Amino acid sequence: MTVEIVNPATGLVTYRHELLKAAEVEQRLAAAAGAFPQWAAQTLQARGTILRGIAAQLRARKDDIQHAMTTEMGKLKGEALAEVEKCAQACEYYADHAADYLKPQLIDTEAQRSYVRYEPIGCVFAVMPWNFPIWQVFRFLAPAFMAGNVALLKHASNVPQCADLILAVCRDGGLPDGVFDVLHIDNDQAAEVLRDKRVKAVTLTGSERAGRSIAANAGDQLKKCVMELGGSDAFVVLDDADLDKTVAAAVKSRFDNSGQTCIAAKRFIVVDAIADAFVEKFVAAAAARVYGDPQDEKTTLAPMARADLREELHKQVQASVAAGATVLLGGEPVPGTHAGYPATILDNVVPGMPAYDEELFGPVAAILRVHDDADALRVANDSTFGLGGSVWSGDPVRGEGIAKRLECGAAFVNAIVKSDVRLPFGGSKRSGFGRELADHGIHEFMNIKTVYVA
Ligand code: NAP
Repeated sequence: MTVEIVNPATGLVTYRHELLKAAEVEQRLAAAAGAFPQWAAQTLQARGTILRGIAAQLRARKDDIQHAMTTEMGKLKGEALAEVEKCAQACEYYADHAADYLKPQLIDTEAQRSYVRYEPIGCVFAVMPWNFPIWQVFRFLAPAFMAGNVALLKHASNVPQCADLILAVCRDGGLPDGVFDVLHIDNDQAAEVLRDKRVKAVTLTGSERAGRSIAANAGDQLKKCVMELGGSDAFVVLDDADLDKTVAAAVKSRFDNSGQTCIAAKRFIVVDAIADAFVEKFVAAAAARVYGDPQDEKTTLAPMARADLREELHKQVQASVAAGATVLLGGEPVPGTHAGYPATILDNVVPGMPAYDEELFGPVAAILRVHDDADALRVANDSTFGLGGSVWSGDPVRGEGIAKRLECGAAFVNAIVKSDVRLPFGGSKRSGFGRELADHGIHEFMNIKTVYVA
């Protein structure tokens, strides 16, 4: 089957490619299984040297990778280049820290010796999204390689060239054949791959819908899975927040990557005492985001990744407005564009509206007005999602008091929620389970083995 890739900035088909046939998938599965024993037996130092080689390749090919990201999913040039650098740094970080994360952990018992050792499990299947098409892959790959696992990637169908470039930098960085490969396959073929006995586990970053399907399949096969799913992060503004700093962060968190970020602030929960002042500044700052060609460095609001995603978002906006939300900014697709949606702000958002209950995966902010700190916490936790959340206050201790009670995987005070290779990353509630990054991430796909010598 041929897949066509449409540049979201122009609406033109820029690339066509074929999905793999069953025999080609089989050949890659066999190669992965064949490569595993030798890769697992390599020293950490040898694997680290290869990861540094991959980091160097990422930097050497950053312009090609940026170009692929921008033409395939519309990412702003500056954001794409920063993403490539973040991946290179993650490779170097794991090369530096894996020995510490993986050293045997001695445990004092009555035995002569008892300890935990970490062993690789084999081939991990990665199903990844298009929104950070390089980073989402490397945040899994870097620790997986250092752990001694091998990996197969099924990337989102709209970013095939990004997937091929990831493979190219890995090979050119010195990764042996079979340790990693890309499967250009559809979701039915992906289900077959997950059922294959040579695949030991699966990691998904994507929507709740994909999560249900893949986790059910993994459960049926009794295979370990990590689920990094959607979010509707709260951005809680208390009455003593520094408004200028808070508004700048609000705009960045909501509108970077055209709002297509799992940990973007999506629900702006603002206490009444400061709400009007916050909203006025927020609308003015968001209105300054300029929609345009993502390759042009003056553009500050990128197109959405696909026209169907814009349509879906616009339906959520219309349904919220029909239920009583007020449009303060934007609210209609950018005329004459294939996938442009303007910076949009909806006020007076309440339960029962999509802007309150669902994830808005695009440049639309929802303002939820609340009475006080307790009300803010109640509304922040009134969500089926639990990915991240942030609290903004002039008093960090007060902010931390709320942050500790947010039901989510990452709570930040006076800072935008972000992924950082040094800190574990993952969700609670319907945002998923399992962790990536830091020491928690590298242990997810390892056999945590107890050794007891009496
Ligand atoms: P998506 O539609 O769920 O796609 C993600 C990946 O899953 C793609 O490779 C997709 O393949 C595949 N997929 C979709 N349905 C599947 C199924 N039934 N069985 C097997 N594979 C399936 O999500 P997306 O639109 O790319 O990404 C947006 C979502 O990802 C948002 O909800 C966002 O919040 C979430 N996300 C979460 C995190 C996190 O770390 N928690 C990070 C980034 C994004 P095809 O493209 O071929 O359909």
